[in-house]
This record gives sequence, structure tokens and C-alpha cells, in this order.
Amino acid sequence: MTMKIAVLPGDGIGPEIVKQALRVLDVLKNEGMEMEFTEAPLGGQAYDEYGHPYPEFTQKVCRAADAVLLGAVGGPQYDNLDRPLRPERGLLAIRKDLGLFANLRPAMLYPELANASTLKPEVVAGLDIMIVRELTGDVYFGQPRGMRTNDEGEREGFNTMVYKESEVRRIAHVAFGIAMKRGKKLCSVDKANVLETTEFWKEIVIDVAKEYPEVELSHMYVDNAAMQLIRNPKQFDVMVTGNIFGDILSDEASMLTGSIGMLASASLNASKQGLYEPSHGSAPDIAGQNLANPIATILSVAMMLRYSFDNEAAAVRIEAAVKKVLAAGYRTGDIYEEGMKKVSCSEMGDQIVAAM
Ligand code: NAD
Repeated sequence: MTMKIAVLPGDGIGPEIVKQALRVLDVLKNEGMEMEFTEAPLGGQAYDEYGHPYPEFTQKVCRAADAVLLGAVGGPQYDNLDRPLRPERGLLAIRKDLGLFANLRPAMLYPELANASTLKPEVVAGLDIMIVRELTGDVYFGQPRGMRTNDEGEREGFNTMVYKESEVRRIAHVAFGIAMKRGKKLCSVDKANVLETTEFWKEIVIDVAKEYPEVELSHMYVDNAAMQLIRNPKQFDVMVTGNIFGDILSDEASMLTGSIGMLASASLNASKQGLYEPSHGSAPDIAGQNLANPIATILSVAMMLRYSFDNEAAAVRIEAAVKKVLAAGYRTGDIYEEGMKKVSCSEMGDQIVAAM
């Protein structure tokens, strides 16, 4: 089966980092793995070409693909556009269009980079957590929402926290499935002592757990989870939580590593179609200078192979190549320490391709 991959370089450093990720995929293609790439614009690049951040052409390409590789979108030149035309709207639109309800954010710290974290090396070295965040429900989407003047004549703002059973079940299945492929430990994060929505969440997760007897399930209140991530993050393997808690916890977890240029992410729908992108933005401050760290994007490609194409061996091979290059002392500017070998974006790509 030919793997159909949509390639959306986007804005800022997007094209530079995607180029290096494609070189890694080319290694596999040249060895006989069948893949087909179709490039399309997203974000500011798409606005410039088509007048919309997620134009019809890009929609068509993405809907027909098995997986989408994205660089990043956004830039100061687009900040004054009407909101619906801003690059970030292209991101929301593609997530909604493809029904990407499961966001996977690994927080992983290679021992070689332990000094990049603001926490003590012994707390974070070797950290390897996967946060599974529900992405299309919760208080971010619940109706009714808005601002109004209430019956007492006072102005108020309000949102609705709501999860349907089907929404909790499908994200729970994704999280248990990932736990099965990793350390078989899953922590479901809620606020069941105060919020009925998350008490319901917990009840459904416990029910889904019956189908995964090998996975050790635990539950934690979100406030405690925020503390535990700082106190002893290595206690976690996979964490699953709703949209708003996941938004906050995944950013917290990513900062444990201290190196934003290293963090991959994936967003999946029910048919394993996925959008794979680095967790960072378009870094306009260093765009076009061949300075960006391409590793987050390269590791996103490893996630693509693992989650959309069930090719664990290829994923592990890419991850091992990254590890080898870091162990050999190669560093882009963002993760550079004295005594290491400083390389550009494309040189980092050279090293990883060679290590494969
Ligand atoms: P950013 O992640 O782009 O940059 C933050 C800092 O990290 C900058 O100093 C940047 O140089 C550095 N950085 C980020 N990625 C790097 C890499 N791969 N290698 C080396 N250094 C790296 O966040 P920001 O500055 O807040 O946002 C810039 C633009 O990106 C904005 O327009 C924002 O809306 C957009 N954005 C897009 C996404 C996305 O596409 N998913 C996510 C976040 C922000």
C-alpha cells in the first residue's frame, strides 16, 4: 500500500524543518517503502496564495491523504488580518475538517539534554511521558457560551463543560491503545471531586479499562497532576485527560524538557488519519537563517510511522538515529552547550540521515 502523505510546510521556519523531515522519509522511500507526497499551503502561505488559511485545494489534498506533515504557521505580517483569515485559523480548520479528536504530546528528555531543563537533571533525565489530550470537546466547544447580563442586571461570562459518552470512550480507547504499546500504565486526570463532567469521564474510563486488563489504570485530580509533573514526572507513562486540562498539562510537561525544538506531536481521528507537527510555532525570529532545530519535526515523522502506518520498526529507527546524533554531541543553537558541536538546521538533517 502506498502511504499518501500531505506536506504542509507553512510559514516561518516551517519550510526549513519540513525539508529535513522529508529527507528522513526519503531514506525509507529509497529503500523501497512506497510513499507519495503532495504539497499544499496552510496558514499565512495559503492566505498569500489563495486568500484563505485553509483553502479548498489544501482541504482536498489533506482529506485524500493517510497522514499530514505540517511545519508551523503564523507570523507577524499576518497579525492584523481579520480573525477568520489568520494563519492559526487554518490550524483549527484542518483539525475540525479531519475530525482530529486525539492529541498526542510526548514529553521526552534525552539524558544528553538534561541540563536544558530548569529542573534538576536527576528529576528529568530519561523522562518519557505521553500526554493524550481530547481535542474537540469540553468547555472549549460546549454550548451555551457567551457573555450576557443576568437576571440581577449584572454582566457575566459563561461556558459549558460537557462530554458525551462516545467522546470519552473513543479518547479512552486511544489512550489505552497507546499504553499497550508503551509501559502499560495509564493515569486518567480529572477533577471528579468538584466537576460532574469529569466524574462522568472517570466512570467511562473505568468501564473502558475492562477491555485492557493488562494496563494499570490510575486516577489523579488535575491540581495534583500539575504538582506531580514537577515533583516526580518519571512516575508517569501515559496520561489521558480532557481538552482544557490537557491544554495546560501538556504545555507544563513539555517545559520539563526545556527544549521546545525537540517536541513532536500528533493529532489523530477515528480512522488513524493523523496530523503530525512539531509542538513549537513558526519562530519568525530565526526563519530563513538555517538555524532552526528540525528534530521536533523529524520525531513527528517517527510518530506518523508509528500511529498512522503501524510501522514501529521505522519509528524506532528514526528515534535511534536522533539519539545517536545527540550522543555524538551535535546540537543546533537552541540546545547548544559549550563543548558540543554546533550545527545548522540542514547539517542536523545531514547527521540524522547519515545515522539512519
Ligand atoms: P515559537 O514556538 O514560534 O517560538 C518561541 C521561541 O522558541 C522563539 O525564540 C523561537 O526562535 C524558538 N523556537 C521555536 N521553535 C524552534 C526550533 N525548531 N528551533 C530553534 N528555536 C525554536 O512561538 P511564538 O514566538 O510564540 O510564535 C511565533 C508564531 O508561531 C506566531 O505567529 C504563533 O501564532 C505561531 N504558532 C504556531 C503554532 C503552530 O503552527 N502549531 C504553534 C505556536 C505558535
